[in-house]
Amino acid sequence: MKTEYARHIIDIIGNSEDKKFVIIGGIHGNEKGGIDAILNVLPEMKKNSPIQKGKVYFLKGNLPALKLDERFIEKDLNRLWTDENLLSEEDTSPDIAQLKELHNLIVDEICQNKFDNCIFLDLHTFSAKSGVFCIPAANSRSVAFAQSFGISFIEKLSDTLPGTALSYFGNKGMTSLVFEGGTHNTAEASRTLEAGIWHSLAYAGFISPELEKVKKGRELLNEISNNYPHHLELVYRHKLEDYFNFRMNKGYFNFKPIRKSEFLAVQNNSKITSPYSGYILMPLYQRKGSDGFFIVREKNKISE
Ligand SMILES: [Zn+2]
Repeated sequence: MKTEYARHIIDIIGNSEDKKFVIIGGIHGNEKGGIDAILNVLPEMKKNSPIQKGKVYFLKGNLPALKLDERFIEKDLNRLWTDENLLSEEDTSPDIAQLKELHNLIVDEICQNKFDNCIFLDLHTFSAKSGVFCIPAANSRSVAFAQSFGISFIEKLSDTLPGTALSYFGNKGMTSLVFEGGTHNTAEASRTLEAGIWHSLAYAGFISPELEKVKKGRELLNEISNNYPHHLELVYRHKLEDYFNFRMNKGYFNFKPIRKSEFLAVQNNSKITSPYSGYILMPLYQRKGSDGFFIVREKNKISE
């Protein structure tokens, strides 16, 4: 394996080649929670929780951005997953270089182009306060995987965000999921992401569902599930061309109910009001980002 690919590998556990599970943290360099969760899981998994089948690859994402604790260097690595970027020879941005390394590592070295046998779990945190949720890729196995967490999951979001690793691998037929574990740099988010890792590996049959860590993880996910609506669908994405001139009003958090026409943010000195009623998702309270907020609704309650 080329050294530039190997730099992304935190660890590999398991011996058989029949199934692969890729777990990645830090695709956004300011989101260390996923990597912390991986580092917390590894010692226990190596000692007391043998992998029953397949191989699990624990990876880190945007290495230069992680070093600087920035979401990205020049371009958001989680909006770059397109064939055009992968083939481009002119674009020399460091984030594109990271894209190509990760793509070659996951597609060629790990999955070896057999996408049916490969599962992708992408760990994230967010800048808003509270709320934990999954985003499945747009295929039935990914939706079933999301549903298995028992917490909020949002359909139709992966299609709306162009260039995510989530939809890139989902479109190849992989079971592919984003797990948003909580607020950036909180111990709570790392604990929740850890619970998500244990649950995911048990769900996919890589480890026994009877392990204490899996049971504890499920308990934590159950507790979280009581606080939020479950099956949601995206109704609106407030895309930003220029994040410098966007200021979200204070007091929004994931799944806060909002009304149609509610004053939500100021952009280029104009008021931004909500085009729909529903729940707000991922309101932007950080410097860099390509989306101001999203609006979701409970799936069976969409009528307006
Ligand atoms: Zn992220």
